[in-house]
Amino acid sequence: MAGKIEINTDRCKGCYLCIEACPKNCIIIGQETNASGYFPAVFEYEDKCIGCSMCAMVCPEVIIKVYRD
Ligand code: SF4
Ligand code: SF4
Repeated sequence: MAGKIEINTDRCKGCYLCIEACPKNCIIIGQETNASGYFPAVFEYEDKCIGCSMCAMVCPEVIIKVYRD
């Protein structure tokens, strides 16, 4: 199953929880800070996502949306 996520990077605190939770290592920390001064999570390896929602479930800010094909 293929999946896709959207991260509201403006509200990301760069806590790494989604990065650690993703079984496919799709998410990395970005190189540029957001408006709040955090380095936000970035959905980098889009072709590997299986839409499992693990990232969304652990995000304390509830800013990850998951889509499945
Ligand atoms: S939905 Fe699953 S595979 Fe896709 S980025 Fe989130 S944790 Fe990783
Ligand atoms: S879990 Fe949420 S707040 Fe933490 S890095 Fe991922 S998207 Fe950002």
